[in-house]
Amino acid sequence: MKILIVDDSSTMRKIVMRTLRQAGYDGADIREAGDGVEGLAALDESEVDLIFSDVNMPNMNGLEFVKELRGRDGSASTPVVMVTTESGTDAMDEARSLGASGYVVKPFTADKLRDVLEGVLS
Ligand SMILES: [Mg+2]
Repeated sequence: MKILIVDDSSTMRKIVMRTLRQAGYDGADIREAGDGVEGLAALDESEVDLIFSDVNMPNMNGLEFVKELRGRDGSASTPVVMVTTESGTDAMDEARSLGASGYVVKPFTADKLRDVLEGVLS
């Protein structure tokens, strides 16, 4: 399984990666990108099975990134989980309307992440 983590915080990328391992996705091939532009470049190199995206990022934020993804041939239906600091906000409603598959609120546990992924990947 290939997973792409897009976040401008390298610390947050490491936390998501570590939590994914704890949640049982330890065999995954995990790639990283620092913003939406880098995320699209990574996908040009290789499509993935699952994407995690931060919302607030420079150059291209998470909402713009999801919108771009849904217009691309290779990733039009790739599950995208938004990683956010707020729950139930307008930003998450907007993310859903742009095509995000689900979201997790920081900080999150391995159990919570596993639940979200079971929903998104089923
Ligand atoms: Mg950020």
